[in-house]
Amino acid sequence: MSRLEGKTAVITGGNSGIGLATAKTFLNEGATRIYLTGRRKAELDEAVASLGPRAVAVPGDVTNPVDLDRLYDLVKTEVGQVNVVFANAGFATLAPLGSLTEDHVDALLNTNIKGVIWTVQKALPLMRPGGSIILSASIVASKGFGNWSIYSATKAAVRSFARTWASDLKGQNIRVNAVSPGVIETPGHDKSGATKDEVGSFFDYAAKITPLSRTGRDDEVAKVVAFLASDESSFVNGSEIFVDGGIAQI
Ligand code: NDP
Repeated sequence: MSRLEGKTAVITGGNSGIGLATAKTFLNEGATRIYLTGRRKAELDEAVASLGPRAVAVPGDVTNPVDLDRLYDLVKTEVGQVNVVFANAGFATLAPLGSLTEDHVDALLNTNIKGVIWTVQKALPLMRPGGSIILSASIVASKGFGNWSIYSATKAAVRSFARTWASDLKGQNIRVNAVSPGVIETPGHDKSGATKDEVGSFFDYAAKITPLSRTGRDDEVAKVVAFLASDESSFVNGSEIFVDGGIAQI
């Protein structure tokens, strides 16, 4: 399929997991050019090399407005506009209420909330009618999983951005939607502060409580992001799509 033919996309957090899988899917769907960000330059360069000449690496941190300006300046110079923005960069670290620290809270708010705000706001001058913005939320936004409080709150904010920004952009024919993955096996879980055994146990637990009896894959999320990026979802706006095997419903 070539649902993204002629489209230029920006994907934050494109060197790993769901972001990288989405980059592959966008290219398979015919995207003309995709710009990928991430802080780890070596991993980003490796990812872009594996994707081929239509992928461009722009190393940077979404919490740093200067890095985002550099990204969009390059897009402006090279192609002049952006059709799709996937604000995917994010992370989870876990802590119970009694152990929350200023650093823990600030880091999550800065990347998962402020990083999303500036990623999208700074894209707007380059977006044209027909554009699509996809935000990365999570099923934990509506769950009470212990130790996940701040991460869950950041993703609840992101869900709310999809609804409110769809209204803010009224009349511009730019859609804003959120994708809410369930438990997807990506490198992101290894960075949560949990041990390998704890991550393994969490995947087993998630598989057990998910109606489809398994965890998800990054490419399964990527396909839904590609749908939201494409004109096939032309009347889907301000929505949240769960890609979670049904876990959000239990
Ligand atoms: P990964 O850790 O595999 O990917 C996260 C990506 O975000 C990496 O490319 C990372 O690159 C980038 N990133 C993190 N912080 C920053 C930052 N400050 N600036 C720029 N890039 C950043 O995790 P996933 O693929 O699992 O996660 C992708 C998104 O999906 C996240 O928003 C996550 O919260 C969400 N999600 C994931 C779920 C899952 O089960 N996997 C479930 C629900 C939501 P680098 O470190 O080089 O900066």
